[in-house]
Amino acid sequence: MRVRKYLRGSGRVLAFVFVASVIWLLFDMAALRMSLSDVSGQQLKERLIREREFYKRQSVEGLHPRRSFTHPVNRADPPGGQKAPRRPSSELDQVYRHKGEQQGQRSEEKEPRFIQVSRSNRSKDVDVKPGNGAAHPNEIAPEQDSAAKKEAVNLNVNTVGADGFQVPQKVAVKTPPAVQKAVDKIDPEANEKVEDSKIGKEAIQPEATKSRPAQTTRGRPNQDVKEVNKKVAEIQVKVTDKNQLNADKEPLKPAVNHLAVGNSSANAVVRKSSVHTVLSLDVTNSPRDPKAVGQFGQAARVSNHENLEVEKRWNEGHFNVYLSDKIPLDRAIPDTRPQKCSQSLVHDDLPSTSVIFCFVDEVWSTLLRSVHSVLNRSPPHLLKEIILVDDFSTKDYLKKKLDDYMSQFPKVRIIRLKERQGLIRARLAGAAEAKGDVLTFLDSHVECNVGWLEPLLERIYLDRKKVPCPVIEVISDRDMSYMLVDNFQRGIFRWPLVFGWSPVPEDYIKKNNMKVTDPIKCPVMAGGLFSIEKKYFYELGSYDSGLDVWGGENMEISFKIWMCGGEIEIIPCSRVGHIFRGQNPYKFPKDRQKTVERNLARVAEVWLDEYKDLFYGHGYTHLLNKKVIDIGNLTEQIELRKRLKCQSFKWYLDNVYPDMNAPLVKADGLVYNRGLRKCLALQQDSLSFETCDLSKQSQHFNYTWMRNIRHRELCIAPHVQSNSLALQPCDNAKSELRWLHKSTVSNLFFHKMLVVLQVFSRMCLEGQLEGPAVRLRSCDAKNLFQKWQFTHYYAQ
Ligand code: UDP
Ligand code: MN
Repeated sequence: MRVRKYLRGSGRVLAFVFVASVIWLLFDMAALRMSLSDVSGQQLKERLIREREFYKRQSVEGLHPRRSFTHPVNRADPPGGQKAPRRPSSELDQVYRHKGEQQGQRSEEKEPRFIQVSRSNRSKDVDVKPGNGAAHPNEIAPEQDSAAKKEAVNLNVNTVGADGFQVPQKVAVKTPPAVQKAVDKIDPEANEKVEDSKIGKEAIQPEATKSRPAQTTRGRPNQDVKEVNKKVAEIQVKVTDKNQLNADKEPLKPAVNHLAVGNSSANAVVRKSSVHTVLSLDVTNSPRDPKAVGQFGQAARVSNHENLEVEKRWNEGHFNVYLSDKIPLDRAIPDTRPQKCSQSLVHDDLPSTSVIFCFVDEVWSTLLRSVHSVLNRSPPHLLKEIILVDDFSTKDYLKKKLDDYMSQFPKVRIIRLKERQGLIRARLAGAAEAKGDVLTFLDSHVECNVGWLEPLLERIYLDRKKVPCPVIEVISDRDMSYMLVDNFQRGIFRWPLVFGWSPVPEDYIKKNNMKVTDPIKCPVMAGGLFSIEKKYFYELGSYDSGLDVWGGENMEISFKIWMCGGEIEIIPCSRVGHIFRGQNPYKFPKDRQKTVERNLARVAEVWLDEYKDLFYGHGYTHLLNKKVIDIGNLTEQIELRKRLKCQSFKWYLDNVYPDMNAPLVKADGLVYNRGLRKCLALQQDSLSFETCDLSKQSQHFNYTWMRNIRHRELCIAPHVQSNSLALQPCDNAKSELRWLHKSTVSNLFFHKMLVVLQVFSRMCLEGQLEGPAVRLRSCDAKNLFQKWQFTHYYAQ
């Protein structure tokens, strides 16, 4: 009745309004929840994927550190949470070849800051495995994809017209006057000059006219040679920017792209000389077969019945060898440089370079494609020679057949090592033979992109202590497609000296007003691809020749360069594709893991100072046991560091890699015992408990990376027989001084015990009310006297 009363007259209206508002509110809340769960679901998903990737890398690569545990093909969202803008496929088409005016019209600002890795063209039929560095196939909508494909096929690099490509220059190489001038300037000695100008005019002709490897869809390498040798093709030089021919007439723009990043000024040499627009030489066959497998760096398709063959040949190189053999040795690849690169200026009198490829049992087609990409896309007057160092390969085709093939190219020399030396000593052998001013090291499964060389040499020209690296792009190991990588990526390391890629911090980009074309200061180089002035390389003591086979040499040279006065840079206008492989395809004379660990330990001992504890403390304490591993003699390396008056590793961390987290200890401060409610103190060489007082040095302990409980030079050592504790001079190599500071039951830091591993059981450090301050007892998670807490924790 009462309810009825309320529902009469105006009450009824009010009730209706009330009920309606409640319903409305409920709907609203439901909608809000849905959208929230959408957002958080999406975020969660992204985070999970990121984390999964991270842990996958950590677990695999942590155990087997590679020179490149990952590559920046995965889209890197810029710090701050915005998503990386996606490159529309129309833009992707444009990057096949820059298009003169059209290119110029596109402003730098439009350049996506973080270019997502984008397959230049993607085939849906190809099995692109996510997590293998390849972008997910769904990233480009199917219709966009097919549009891109259509466009790509129409892209004939030798035709002119709407797509903006230049008419092929039938007149072989027309050396731009500015460059010719430069060639004349390079060598003061007259006879050298003759040789060089010969290079400028003729070098391409004999090489290219003799036999330019044709685009071929043939599979087997030996067939390749026959076919290739039959073809005598005209040389064509594609000059993507007409202005290049008139480069010296151009008004001098103020130091375009001579952007100094970092502490370059100290080493800079100011020279006055004329400049020209970077050359975009790309010598190609005519007509290129636009339909050839993998042409334009597109993903190549393999039909189902070929899969068996793909699998069978996979281990020859740990990538799709079957497919690689089908792809033309001189295929076109997309010009992936940021837009402004093709207009940047470089000096006319750049130094020349020797390109050094080391290889052991490299796949024929990838080795040749690497060499051809250098011959085809390097200004001849700057390419002194190509040195192939055969690190005692076992494959037959790398012997006489390779000699015969390369005999067509006067600039290519082959050095054969009499026994397996490993990558490091093979490079040293190549360097010792090199005649160029600059050494350019490349892996033997790369494709140098258009305009790759001059921007590297320019940096060395500006400052001989700069060590420039190209942006390493990704040639898919599965479908051999050429993929773009994110901008603003630099090489870094994580503990224990594991190489990786990471975006330049956003605030650094802002503070330095960095553009996509600017050189990027790079704490650690990936290792495979870089240029270094030859004399400077030797001044630095080259590589530590005690490093074996593979691994760690990129850390060594990186620390050495930075700490001894040089700089490593990634040059966004220089781009080289590289096949990242899941495994080393060659054999290690000794155990792989031991070899890499030993190399890293050498690097840590010479360069890391007190920070070497972080290296050993991240899973490498076993290397401290001299009985387990002999890392060899380091006297020479340590002497070198002294002689060069190199900076400390702390300096390196502070100045080169300030965002690196490198606490020298895991925890420190007071050591509080939960049961006693007092702190551990060390006085007159014995342990006691005192009322906690941070100002007392006697109460300060470190929990080190070696997991020692350390007070100055003394460490707490368990005495096994008597279950008592003693103090001993600390010794990183002694495993009996290591304590696990372990959380029990809950993760609350209060519930941490100090556990030591005894012969048969785990024993815990326990505080005592009477008698000696501490003793060892069987671990008991409920015992408060076994719970310890340091004041500060820096790492888990
Ligand atoms: N290499 C060599 N001798 C060796 C190991 C490697 O000459 O003992 C060559 C190898 O053929 C390649 C280069 O060194 O051209 C770099 O090796 P890899 O590509 O395996 O290194 P990653 O790119 O995986 O770091
Ligand atoms: Mn490689």
